[in-house]
Amino acid sequence: MMKRILITDDAAFMRMSLRKMIEKFGFEVVDEAVNGLDAIKKYQKWQPDLVTMDITMPEMNGIDAIREIKKLNPIAKILVISAMGNESFVKEALIAGASGFILKPFKEEDLLKNLMKF
Ligand SMILES: [Mg+2]
Repeated sequence: MMKRILITDDAAFMRMSLRKMIEKFGFEVVDEAVNGLDAIKKYQKWQPDLVTMDITMPEMNGIDAIREIKKLNPIAKILVISAMGNESFVKEALIAGASGFILKPFKEEDLLKNLMKF
């Protein structure tokens, strides 16, 4: 199955490199969101199979965005990709409803493994 993916990160460079990897793996990037609010809006618009979610972003962070997206769809699949690797952030993201967590910087194969899993 061809997964449709929404990328969320405030850093243009990270969005670009995630898009490149995801498309190389054969998945479809439906859109890119630049913060949590944008992710919620674009989640509703596209209903993607999976959302990649940065944590530290202006306007609305990734944790709050996960909570809101899970309210819209309790079975939404959200993969956190963040440099905030300390235990409390990981735990908070998982409690908010994230399906998985990848720590930046990451290897392509780690991303692929997680994209296949969810
Ligand atoms: Mg960020």
